[in-house]
Amino acid sequence: MRIWLQNKIVPERLAKVSVLDRGFLYGDGVYEAVRVYEGRIFRAEHHWKRLDGSLGSIHMRIPWSHSHLTAACLATARANGLSEALVRVTLSRGQGEVGYDPRSAKRPTLTVIASPIRKDLPRLWRSGVKIAVVNIRRNPMRSLSPAIKHTNALNGILAKIEALKTGAFEGVFLNLEGFVAEGTISNIFMVKRGVVKTPSLDCGILEGVTRRSVLELARKDRVRVVESRIPLKELLAADEVFLTSTTMEVMPVARIVPGRASPRTPGPVTRLLQKSLRELIAKELRLRGPI
Ligand code: PMP
Repeated sequence: MRIWLQNKIVPERLAKVSVLDRGFLYGDGVYEAVRVYEGRIFRAEHHWKRLDGSLGSIHMRIPWSHSHLTAACLATARANGLSEALVRVTLSRGQGEVGYDPRSAKRPTLTVIASPIRKDLPRLWRSGVKIAVVNIRRNPMRSLSPAIKHTNALNGILAKIEALKTGAFEGVFLNLEGFVAEGTISNIFMVKRGVVKTPSLDCGILEGVTRRSVLELARKDRVRVVESRIPLKELLAADEVFLTSTTMEVMPVARIVPGRASPRTPGPVTRLLQKSLRELIAKELRLRGPI
C-alpha cells in the first residue's frame, strides 16, 4: 500500500508517525472519509466544509487547502491503482510536549489512506443488514460532540464491539435521553406510512454528507421528510429502516436487535432512495455509465 504522509506519497513501511504525536497519545485530531467513483470524489466540498467545522471545534489549524486535500486523495487512490476507493484523510495536532496543553504542537500530521470498496455491498444492498441497538450511549453533545469528526473513537469502538457480539453489521446508539441517535459509522432513517424520518441534529449526531443528500433527494422525489426525536419504540415499529454513509450509501436494514425481521427488505421507499442517490452521484460526477 502507498500512503500520503504530509506532502508526498510514500510506501507503507515508510509511513511512520512519532510516538509523541498527539493523535497517538490522545486521539487529538480529526478526519474525513471520502468516496472516489471513477477517480472523482463525491461532494468533496461538503466533506471539506465539515472538516473545517471539526478543526474549528478542536481549535486546530492546518496549512493545507481544500484543493490540496482533494489532490492528495485522488493521488493516493491512483498510486494504489484504485479508481473506486474509500479515502481516509486523518489530521492530528502533531508532535508536542507530553501533556494535554497543545501549544507546543506546531506542525499537524496529515495522512491519506486509500482502501478498496468492499465487494459484498451489492449483495447487502439487496438483502439488507442486521443492526443492534447498543447499551452504551452516544457521547452527549456537551461533552464530546458527535458533530465533530474527531479521532477520539472509543465511544464508537465500544459500541461496535457490543454490536459484533450479537452478529450485527452495525451498532446503533441512543442518546442519553433515550432517543435514537446514529450508527457507529452511519446515520439512521426510518419510514412509516410513506414518511421518511431521521433523528434531528440536536439528538447529538454527525451530520452525514450522505444523510444530507438523501434528505435532499427525498424532498425532490416528493416524499415527506421529518427530522425529529425518535423514541426506540417508534424505530422498532417502522415499516422500513435504512442506514446512510459515504461507503454504505443507502443500506437497507432487515433486522434490528432487539426486534423482529422486517418482512420486506429493501422496502419501496428505501429502494427509491438507493436508486436516486446512485443517479445523483452519476450525474454530479458525470460518470460514464450507471453505477
Ligand atoms: N455518523 C458517524 C458517527 C459516522 O462516522 C459517519 C461516517 N462518516 C456517518 C454518520 C455518516 O456520514 P457520511 O454520510 O458523511 O459518511
